[in-house]
Amino acid sequence: MGKIYIIDVTNRDGVQTAKLGLSKLEKTLINVYLNEMGVFQSEFGFPTTRHESHYLKANLELAEMGVLQPIRLEGWIRAVAEDVETAFKLVPDIRHLSLSISTSQQMINGKFLGKKSKQDVLGMMVEAIEAAKSHRMESIGVNAEDASRTDLDYLIKFGLAAREHGADRLRYCDTLGYDNPFTIYETVKTLTERLEMPIELHCHGDLGMAVANSIAGAKGAIDGGQDAYINTTVNGIGERAGNADLVATLLAVTKSRRFAEKYQLAGSIKLTKAVKIAEFASYAFGVPIPINQPGVGANAFAHASGIHADGVLKDPENYELYDFKELGRGKPKFVETGREIISGQYSGISGFSHIMGKMEVSFSSKEEANEILELVRYANVESQKPLVEDELLFIARYPAIARKLLTLTPLDY
Ligand SMILES: [Zn+2]
Repeated sequence: MGKIYIIDVTNRDGVQTAKLGLSKLEKTLINVYLNEMGVFQSEFGFPTTRHESHYLKANLELAEMGVLQPIRLEGWIRAVAEDVETAFKLVPDIRHLSLSISTSQQMINGKFLGKKSKQDVLGMMVEAIEAAKSHRMESIGVNAEDASRTDLDYLIKFGLAAREHGADRLRYCDTLGYDNPFTIYETVKTLTERLEMPIELHCHGDLGMAVANSIAGAKGAIDGGQDAYINTTVNGIGERAGNADLVATLLAVTKSRRFAEKYQLAGSIKLTKAVKIAEFASYAFGVPIPINQPGVGANAFAHASGIHADGVLKDPENYELYDFKELGRGKPKFVETGREIISGQYSGISGFSHIMGKMEVSFSSKEEANEILELVRYANVESQKPLVEDELLFIARYPAIARKLLTLTPLDY
C-alpha cells in the first residue's frame, strides 16, 4: 500500500508569491521547523538564482552537519539542460532537483508563442533529466506545469518519457487550481496506473479546493498502486489564492472521515509543532493567520454560543473534531507588557547581552559576544523586523552558517 509523503514548498512557491518574501535566515528557520516536524522534503529554493547560492549552500552544510536531517532539501529549476548546468555550477552539492516545464496546449502556445511544439517540450524535459543524471543526483522529480489543463494522452507520454530517462516522480501541477476532488482523483489514478511511478500533487486554491484536491489526488495515486507526495506551504501561502496549507492537509489526511483507515502518512509527523511553524511563518511573511484557519486559527477551539459552550464543557468531542493539544496549543505564552529590549540593526552590546541572558545564553568571551551581535545586526538589516528567539539562538549556535546566510554580495558572472 502506498503512503503519503509531504513535500513543503513554502521556500519556493511561498516566497515567489507577489508582495511576500522571506529573508535567508527566515527560510532557513522554516527548513529547521519542517525538519523538526518530520516533513519528508523541503523545496528549499532556486539553485539558478544567484542571491540564493549562499543560502542553499549553507543549508546543505546544515544537512551535512546533521542539523537538517533527515529532511531532504530539493531545488526547483526549469526543465532546461542549461539551467541544470547553472544549478550545479552555483550549488555543486545539490542532490535533489525538481525540473519544471509547461505541458498544456494553452501554455505551450501561450508561453512559447509557437516556437515550441509538444514534442519539443518533451525533448527539453528529457535533455534536462539527462543533464541532471550526468551529475550525482539522488532524486529527480519532473513537474508538469498546468497538468490539469493538459491532454491526458500527452501527459501520459510525457510521464513515460520522464520515467524512462530516470525521473523518480511526476509532479501533477494543478497550477491554476482548476481541478476538483472528483476530476483530480480520476486523472491521477489513470496517470499512476499508466506510468507506474509515484505522483506528486501540487494544488492551488483558486476555487478553494487545494487541500481537498490534494487528498483526492493522493487517493488516486495510492489506488493506482503508488506512493503519493503532497505539496504544501505553511499557512497556505503561495501564488495568488495560495497552495494546500501544511497543517490543514495533515489534519485532512489524519482526521477526515474514514480517510486514514487506508491512506496514511509515511514516517512520523509531529503535529504538535503546527502552531510554532504557523506562527513563525505568519510573523516572517507579515501575514496574520486567519481567525478561522484550521487547527491554528484563534477561533479553531473557541466557543461562545450557549449550546456550543455547554456542549464542549460537558464533553469537548461534542463540538471539537480533535484536541488543541495535538497541535501544540494550550501552553502559556509569555508576552512582555512592560519594558522591552529587542534586537535591531543598531543594537549595542549591553542590550544584546540582556536579550541573550534572558534566554540563558552566555558567551565565552567579549569577542565572541561582539561577533554574534554583529551577525544579529546584519540579520536585522535583512529582515527589517526584530528577530525571534529561535533566530537569535540559531545565530549564536551556528555563527559561521549565519555569516554565509547573510552574505548577499552579488556574485561574479
Ligand atoms: Zn504552484
